Amino acid sequence: MAWLKLTKTGLYLMKSGSSCYVKKVDVSSSNQNLSELRLSVPLDWFSGRDIPGSMVIDLESDEPETCRISATPSGPIETPLSGKVIILDPGQGELQGGINDPGAVNGVLGRNERDEVRKQADIIKARLEKKGTVVKVVENNTDKSLTEIGSEGRGSDCFVSLHLTAFNRKVQGHQVFIHTQGTPTDEKLATLINQELAKVLPIKDAGVKRMGLGVLRGVPFPVPAVLTESFFIDSVQDTVTLDSWNELAANAIAEGIEQCFAT
Ligand SMILES: [Zn+2]
Repeated sequence: MAWLKLTKTGLYLMKSGSSCYVKKVDVSSSNQNLSELRLSVPLDWFSGRDIPGSMVIDLESDEPETCRISATPSGPIETPLSGKVIILDPGQGELQGGINDPGAVNGVLGRNERDEVRKQADIIKARLEKKGTVVKVVENNTDKSLTEIGSEGRGSDCFVSLHLTAFNRKVQGHQVFIHTQGTPTDEKLATLINQELAKVLPIKDAGVKRMGLGVLRGVPFPVPAVLTESFFIDSVQDTVTLDSWNELAANAIAEGIEQCFAT
């Protein structure tokens, strides 16, 4: 939670939990003799849920010191996600014998897994980049093998393969996979993401499962790697629900990733 401090010379955005500041607006000398002080707080001091509905400003006589780590005037505020490298793999879409694989389909609605999880990747990327992460999306339309795709996780902080699934146009639910030999960190990431999916999707929670999936096998140890199946696309009844669930799922996955780095 951001907080502000006002002195004779400046308005300071303070680093939470410390006595140093990350940003400053100067109080100009022309302002100083006025009975009323007018200052503009730059909007980029706040992001997302940090934007306060109201503010309490501490009046101080002592000038605070600049924070050593985040002293860059235009730099983003440090978060547990700052600088983390996240690899997103929108599932399917690879070339198989020259044909681009659409993955699971809903023939009635004319929608497919490949296109929907690509939308998820864009939502997650935009959201996590705002928190200071570097997000790389593994491009589709190549003839890479599953293990080659997994190997793109090399050197990153986590790898998330985004999928939907299909079965018999009746069952519905969400599940998150880790590899058969998954680590405790894989399990932590999968559990956090699955919990967030359970909070927002009105469908069965099929839980976290282990499976010998090629894409997860390809991710080099110790990078945490999971594969999400947010819902069964073939059982979705209408496009409004499909769009809604897809967006809810993307945000839940992003939230789970954020929590994994924050805890
Ligand atoms: Zn898939």
